[in-house]
Amino acid sequence: MKFADLHLHTKFSDGTFTPEELAGHGARLGFAALALTDHDSVEGCARMAAACGAAGIEFIPGAELTAEHRDTEVHILGYFLDTENRMLREKIAGFQAVRQNRVREMVAALNKLGVPLQAEAVFALANCRSPGRPHVARALVKERLIGNLDEAFDKFLKKGRPAWVPKTKVSALESVGLIHQAGGLAVMAHPGLNRTDEIIPDLVDAGLDGIECFHTKHSTVMSERYLEIAEKHHLLVTGGSDCHGFSKGRPLIGGIKLPYQHVEKMKQAVAGKKPATTDAHG
Ligand code: AMP
Ligand code: ZN
Ligand code: FE
Ligand code: FE
Repeated sequence: MKFADLHLHTKFSDGTFTPEELAGHGARLGFAALALTDHDSVEGCARMAAACGAAGIEFIPGAELTAEHRDTEVHILGYFLDTENRMLREKIAGFQAVRQNRVREMVAALNKLGVPLQAEAVFALANCRSPGRPHVARALVKERLIGNLDEAFDKFLKKGRPAWVPKTKVSALESVGLIHQAGGLAVMAHPGLNRTDEIIPDLVDAGLDGIECFHTKHSTVMSERYLEIAEKHHLLVTGGSDCHGFSKGRPLIGGIKLPYQHVEKMKQAVAGKKPATTDAHG
C-alpha cells in the first residue's frame, strides 16, 4: 500500500525542519509522496523537490494560504503549483510583507505591556520571509520572557489576548483563483478546526477542487463527515499531518497516511485542467 502526507511545514514558514530533514523523515516512514505546504510561501519547494527526488519520493509543490470568507479565517491549500508563476510570486510577496508588519505590531503591543522583545530578535529566529505567531512565541521563550510556547499563546498571542493582532487576510475566493491561475488545485485545509462548514458551498462555487478530510486534529467522526461532504460536492479528498517539526513536541509526520489513490485522482484532475498540448488531429 502506498501512502502520502500532503500537509507539511518547514523552516521556510513556522516548521523546524529543513526540507532535507523533512524528506528524510518521509523516507524513513516509507511515504510514496509528500507535499510541502508552508504558510504563504513556496520557497522551500525547490530544495524539497531535490531532497524527495534523491530519496525516491514523489513531490508535490504546494502552499497553505491564509484567507478569509465572511469574516472567518480559512486556510486554502494549493497543490501542483507552478512555483515560478509570476502572479503567485507577486501575491505571496505581498502576504509575506503583511506577516512581517504583523510581527512588528505584535512586538509593539508586547513592548507596551512591558515585555522587552525586539522585532529583530523575532526575525533573526524566524530567518524566513513568512514569520508568524509561533516565531514570536519562540522568541519570547528564547529571550526568557515567558516559560513556554503555550504560555506565550495563552498570555499574549491567541485571539483576544493583548498582543494578538488580526491578520489582513485575502479573500478565500480570490485565493482559489490565484491557485488555479498558477496551474494548481485548491483545497480547503482542516475544515474541522475552523468549523466553517457553511462557507463550503461558496468555495465550491468559486471552483474549490478538494477538501482536507484527514488531518491530525480531525476525529474519525469529523473525517467521515468531510468525506460525505466531499462526495456530495464532487470534491477531491486530501489529507496530511500538518507537521511543524519539533515546534509542538513530537513531529506529527507519520500520523496521517493518505492512501495514494487520492494522489492519483488529484493528478488526473490537474491533467484535466491543463490545456491539451497534443495535436487535436493526432
Ligand atoms: P499565524 O499564522 O501567525 O496566526 O500563526 C498560526 C500558527 O500558530 C499555526 O501554525 C498554529 O498552529 C499556531 N498556533 C495557534 N494557536 C496556538 C496555540 N495556542 N499554541 C501553539 N501554537 C498555536
Ligand atoms: Zn503553521
Ligand atoms: Fe492551517
Ligand atoms: Fe498547516
